[in-house]
Amino acid sequence: MRSRRDVDVPALVEQARAGSPRAVARLITLVENADPRLREVMAALAPHTGQARVIGLTGSPGVGKSTTTSMLVTGLRARGLRVGILAVDPSSPFSGGALLGDRIRLADHALDPGVYIRSMASRGHLGGLAWATPQALRVLDAAGCDVILVETVGVGQSEVEVAGLADTTLVLLAPGMGDGVQAAKAGILEIGDVFVVNKADREGADATVRDLRHMISLGDRTEPGLWRPPVLKTVAERREGLEELLEALDRHEAWMDDRGERARRRAERAAREVEAIALSELRSRMGDVRGNGVLQRVTAEVVAGRTDPYAAAEQVIAGLT
Ligand code: GDP
Repeated sequence: MRSRRDVDVPALVEQARAGSPRAVARLITLVENADPRLREVMAALAPHTGQARVIGLTGSPGVGKSTTTSMLVTGLRARGLRVGILAVDPSSPFSGGALLGDRIRLADHALDPGVYIRSMASRGHLGGLAWATPQALRVLDAAGCDVILVETVGVGQSEVEVAGLADTTLVLLAPGMGDGVQAAKAGILEIGDVFVVNKADREGADATVRDLRHMISLGDRTEPGLWRPPVLKTVAERREGLEELLEALDRHEAWMDDRGERARRRAERAAREVEAIALSELRSRMGDVRGNGVLQRVTAEVVAGRTDPYAAAEQVIAGLT
């Protein structure tokens, strides 16, 4: 482990912008570790961000997310685009190698200088995904990625969080694993911009597609001008359906730009990012009941009945600024 003193932020940012994978990796490690130097990093990166297109991929374990990511990378590289891949595992405290070790399917791209692959754990972070992922996206964006694929394991809330981070959200299902009713229950019908039934070589794919289309048609996205999420079939393992998928992603992008939707989503993303940073800063200034912050002082008053929790909360807020 290097000590913090070894980090030369301006040099690191310069190297990352010049395309050094090592520099990109080190900057993302600073994000992951919530390093105090992040503030300086983000200030240096800010003028170079806003270019990358962010595509979120989510779905249950085993549906074929990493195989599909690999297929997409092949297609995007064929178009000459630089691609960043951020694999976020919200349930894992491990990062780097631990998760990447599983990602053999991405090994095809590991030596391609136009592809950055990085996994990130977010458990244990104050603010979790909401705090760390946007900052890692900024690093990849400033490093010149044209497209960033953010892959998350579908575990409840994280899917919805990922949808908030991406311009376009791709939801993956597999035959038999996710019929329409299950999808509706999991709340993924609302977040998907493009649905993919992968493993279409398996029995039941057409039924899953029909089911999903039906469920989507029952939703509230039927007004003219609204985006109707397409439901596609792929066999990611054989790269079947890649062109149709790229085309659907392009259509969604064009629709967003037409409607000002990309700008709206990005504003929402920035607002959540600022909120997450502000909340984490406020929490650390507040201290805790065992420390010597303002929270500890007012807690004793509340316990003794000398003040009520609302008045105490007001004192806390007043004491923070
Ligand atoms: P993830 O956990 O969602 O990232 O899923 P993976 O990409 O690791 O894939 C899980 C398993 O499904 C692997 O054994 C893949 O080889 C397999 N798989 C991926 N795509 C397809 C497909 O289109 N058809 C079939 N039959 N298997 C697939």
